[in-house]
Amino acid sequence: MKSLKSNPQSDNWSLESWKTKAIRQQATYPDQAHLDKALSTLSSLPPLVTSWEVKRLKSYLAEVSRGERFLVQGGDCAESFADCNSSIISNRLKVLIQMSLVLIHGCQIPVVRVGRFAGQYAKPRSADLETRDGVSLPSFRGDIVNQNEFTEASRIPNPDKMLEAYHYSAMTMNFIRALVAGGFADIRHPEYWNIEWVKHSKSAEKFSQLVTEIKDSVQFAEVLVGTKVHNLSSVEFFSAHEALHLHYEQALTRTVPRQDGHFNLSAHFPWIGLRTNQLDSAHVEMMRGIENPIGVKIGPETDDDHLIDLCRTLNPENEAGKLTLIHRFGAKNIENNLPRLIKTAQRANLDVVWCADPMHGNTEATSNGYKTRRFENISKEVELSFKIHKENGSHLGGVHLELTGENVTECLGGARALQEADLSKAYTTQVDPRLNYEQALELAFSIKDFFHQ
Ligand code: PEP
Ligand code: MN
Repeated sequence: MKSLKSNPQSDNWSLESWKTKAIRQQATYPDQAHLDKALSTLSSLPPLVTSWEVKRLKSYLAEVSRGERFLVQGGDCAESFADCNSSIISNRLKVLIQMSLVLIHGCQIPVVRVGRFAGQYAKPRSADLETRDGVSLPSFRGDIVNQNEFTEASRIPNPDKMLEAYHYSAMTMNFIRALVAGGFADIRHPEYWNIEWVKHSKSAEKFSQLVTEIKDSVQFAEVLVGTKVHNLSSVEFFSAHEALHLHYEQALTRTVPRQDGHFNLSAHFPWIGLRTNQLDSAHVEMMRGIENPIGVKIGPETDDDHLIDLCRTLNPENEAGKLTLIHRFGAKNIENNLPRLIKTAQRANLDVVWCADPMHGNTEATSNGYKTRRFENISKEVELSFKIHKENGSHLGGVHLELTGENVTECLGGARALQEADLSKAYTTQVDPRLNYEQALELAFSIKDFFHQ
């Protein structure tokens, strides 16, 4: 494919060039010396992922762009340091493994699993300050910046939290790597993925039947060919987060021996959020210079020119797998917007992965004051995404979800038909409402059906 633009490395990009652009959604640290010291420590610590892994993910995403693989991306809206424990991390993996198995089996397509984890600690906010009873304090911007508690001491941004975020990310990644390498995902031991608190769930029962079928098929194949099928215990997980906190992202963006360019080694797949995707944005500047596959969120306000400019800036070589467009319109708005953006990308010959985020355009407030999402709207947006891509000669490459393996009550509906009055039972998210285990698995079974429609 013809190159669209010159190489960013020779185009005035540097690790610091983001500072000359429009900087949005950043914390204001009161003590520059303290910030410099934390960043100097962070810059000297080892990376959390390697360039080989980053390149492997990019090659998987190139397969996604060709329709040969499906992307499943999911995890918390905002990870919290307090949730960095064995059961929460492993339950999240279990949901992602179960969902991906449903899709591999149901769609007969390999899946690439990307978690919103091991670094999803920074959040964009609608205002810099939050006011309660006449007192104004800095908004909570995620555990990497400050604490949620509404006191001055908690809300003032503290640079040491970046170091804590790095350490929690490393612990999370370490545990995930060890679980996966140790056979946690072995298809012969699906009992490893049972989630303890789940009792009498229709989706879980359906999943268990599916696993029995797969185990039987494996056994049959092994008897038939007379050898054991190897490699059934290894699945890969890649890490992802919104690359929002630019000091943190810069400190973990490195050059690597014997490789060209810079790699952001804080995660395999950093993405640019909707609030920072403007063409003049410091975030776009930072991300255009790295070798990683990257995502960018787009929504109803993304016009056709913006889409083309974003693709040409972030993926100047039009490289397959490099850029994922994560669209989040809301079930009501997708039909008015997705067709035009697909056609625009086709006219400009842009090689991109299309991924549906059915969460962020479907957020609403209940009468009793909860931020929630309706399962039916989430499911509808995924269904429409498949349909619209197909009708326009494109294909949906994956889904981007906010989910947890915990028994939370944050989204309405689903198999248990959660009602507004149920939300208070277990509403524990720090920011946005997540699908609980049952809702996530139910959605995977629906995705399998949408895939074939
Ligand atoms: C998010 O992914 O949590 C988020 C803030 O999304 P968006 O940038 O699409 O609003
Ligand atoms: Mn969110």
